[in-house]
Amino acid sequence: MTKEIPNGAPASVPPDSAPWILAYDGFDPAQEGLREALCALGNGIFVTRGAGEEASADGIRYPGTYMAGGYNRLTSEVAGRTVVNEDLVNLPNWLPLTFSTEDGPWLGTAAVELLSWRQELHLRDGLLVRRFRVRDDRDRLTAVESRRIVSMSSPHLAAIEYRITPENWSGALRIRSELDGSVTNAGVARYRQLASRHLELLEAGPAAPEGVHLLVQTTESRVQVAEAARTRLFGRAGRIEPERRILHEQPDRIGEEVRVPVNQGEAVRVEKVVALYSSQDRGIGEPGMEARLAIISAPGFEEILSKHRLAWQELWRQYDIEMGGDDANAELAREQLILRVHIFHVLQTVSPHTVGLDVGAPARGLHGEAYRGHIFWDELFIFPFYNFRMPFITRSLLRYRYHRLDAARELARGAGHAGAMFPWQSGSDGRETTQQLHLNPRSGSWDPDWSRLQRHVNAAIVYNLWRYYRATGDRAFLLDYGAEVVLDVGRFWSSLATWSEARGRYEIIGVMGPDEYHEKYPDAAAGGLRNNAYSNVMAVWCLLRALDVLDEVGPSRRTELMAGLGIAEQELERWDAITRRMFVPFHDQAVISQFEGYEKLEPFDWEGYRSRYGDIERLDRILKAEGDTPDRYQVSKQADANMLFYLLGRGELRELFERLGYPWDDGLVERTIEYYMERTSHGSTLSKMVFASVIHELDCDEGCRLFLEALRSDIEDVQGGTTAEGIHLGAMAGTVAIVLHRYGGVELGPDGVSLSPEMPARIPCLRFRVHWCGRWLDVDLTAERMQVSADRDLPEPIPIAVDGVWHSLESGEALEFELAPRAGPAGGATPAGSQARVQFP
Ligand code: BGC
Repeated sequence: MTKEIPNGAPASVPPDSAPWILAYDGFDPAQEGLREALCALGNGIFVTRGAGEEASADGIRYPGTYMAGGYNRLTSEVAGRTVVNEDLVNLPNWLPLTFSTEDGPWLGTAAVELLSWRQELHLRDGLLVRRFRVRDDRDRLTAVESRRIVSMSSPHLAAIEYRITPENWSGALRIRSELDGSVTNAGVARYRQLASRHLELLEAGPAAPEGVHLLVQTTESRVQVAEAARTRLFGRAGRIEPERRILHEQPDRIGEEVRVPVNQGEAVRVEKVVALYSSQDRGIGEPGMEARLAIISAPGFEEILSKHRLAWQELWRQYDIEMGGDDANAELAREQLILRVHIFHVLQTVSPHTVGLDVGAPARGLHGEAYRGHIFWDELFIFPFYNFRMPFITRSLLRYRYHRLDAARELARGAGHAGAMFPWQSGSDGRETTQQLHLNPRSGSWDPDWSRLQRHVNAAIVYNLWRYYRATGDRAFLLDYGAEVVLDVGRFWSSLATWSEARGRYEIIGVMGPDEYHEKYPDAAAGGLRNNAYSNVMAVWCLLRALDVLDEVGPSRRTELMAGLGIAEQELERWDAITRRMFVPFHDQAVISQFEGYEKLEPFDWEGYRSRYGDIERLDRILKAEGDTPDRYQVSKQADANMLFYLLGRGELRELFERLGYPWDDGLVERTIEYYMERTSHGSTLSKMVFASVIHELDCDEGCRLFLEALRSDIEDVQGGTTAEGIHLGAMAGTVAIVLHRYGGVELGPDGVSLSPEMPARIPCLRFRVHWCGRWLDVDLTAERMQVSADRDLPEPIPIAVDGVWHSLESGEALEFELAPRAGPAGGATPAGSQARVQFP
């Protein structure tokens, strides 16, 4: 069952284990970068791209290893200016493993011809398998099978098993196994004019009693990273111990070479076990020593693999979502596979091993160098993924922001505001890391980048905190960490709002919304817009939460916080006033205006541009390369005003609007969604995912159509080259959240788990697990019925609400509900109240 995905990325689904293996047949240089990103392996501490062991960065292949929080700053001269950029650093390549037949050419060089090639990513086991056959310049044929893991159970270990079989020759086989510290950050073409050498060598040499080691340090942040590699060989009769030669021709590249006799048809098995430690790790001594000790005590490949498998098994038990795709329905099987690819990569970027590290969730995973590994508002789309199953991971990620609260206060002060203003792009220390100039790859020009004016990132942080708190009831976290963040961000919004005498309302001037196509008014010199609806409404929402927090924490903590942060009672009155009198722009008989004046911009010639350019998702680049600007037109890169429906839903938004004194009518949602749907190019992978979610409520099947498109974003690299530079973690996690939140209808709250499923016709069934306050339940769902069952060892029952009616689910018990088709335009199905209790035997 091999399917050709449109744009040429073949992904086949082997019939035996259909929705668990992502497979590629044949080496395709044009697809290599994409496949490397999609076949990356990681464990929440570090991720290594799926490049071949024989590969070096050559314009087609790009081996890269990135570590959570592994940042460094470099200074470059660009367009006559000095710019400083902070990057997620490409760490020493631990993969290099290659061989040559007799004294022939090395695999990886042009003289060795590739005859066949297949690569498989086994999602269930977290295993990358490569099989290929090669012919050297003297017609010697050799078959190779390699298996690779980045351990999910021992997060400092990675291992390769490499099986070499001479097919038509016997003689000497030379094998090289190395660690390469000479790497640079060169994975993104448009950053290549910038400085890229982030590592300096501290040590490289043989390790005792076997192997080699390398210790490097980042040039500015002084993070030490150590790698040690142990390479062992096995033949038919067991371990082979040939003589080893240390390879150290380049100071920052260290390895070993061995020469072994081989017989035709008999495989030699090589095991390379690598340890990776850094000075950011907790509970360790000097990283170099840790890495060297780790390869002494590390077991062999099989044992590392079997523990790694168990760790993945446990993760899948909690995170897998079954959609009913099997051999009978190839299309659904493929969608099932992609959903698992998403779950897999989100977990590889942030896993239970990440907990306690001082890191956030980078927008492009740890899979490449795009956006320099920075943390954006995308966390908004990522955190629900963890809230549903392992909220302790969200807790850890939220602390990343808490630890940068002082930096955010400093940023606010520097910009003339009160409170805390978190940066649009965040890296190591909470300073603003958004670049000031942006290279347009279409025109080659460096344009000013105003995107840092996206103050809405602050709303995302408060939203994430609040949703975590509501889902878990973790009051200790709110008291000790969350409250300060919510209050100081509230204070920032309050200081950003100005009173307009003319309007008799508060306004926010000079910010950008999520739609990055509009940075400023067409003729304005400075960046920023007036009254971005999303920012204004979310500012109100944040201020309401700030007021709530003061109630939630109790009188004594309230007094402490008010005194500690210097918040006076009158300030609270101002907050309350803003929540009643913030301006929200509307136009054309009640459509929410993205910002003041959006509707007065020129209409855009969508048809003309589509016929001239084909793919116009990145309209900003096209227009700027034409000397024009999207600022002039009614075009949007992604959901902006519609984010309000995504985050708040009809009910909450209605309350907010009524509080603000704006009339609410139910058609507002439909009109606003439709208006922007017609004007959105989906230039961000977040866009379709958000639209899929908001349209779901209006038309479940149309929402599902968009969901399926959003699902294809990375696997088909719909943006034409961006996935190769790093996956889109927000879209990956966000699509998973749609399945749970929209189709499964799961909502976690302080009173329990509420379920209002609404299944699109396209998805026959869903099976998943959900966690709530230390208790797990299983949901098994079709359009007609839902079974909810509790684990057997629950300390207390789980309160569940179905169709608004509360039930108490005891340990080991299952409840069944019949679902009736939903009336009205929404389609889908909703609980009809009929329910039966089942006790598991
Ligand atoms: C999107 C932003 C997003 C960023 C990182 C941009 O293309 O417009 O909303 O935060 O990518 O994913």
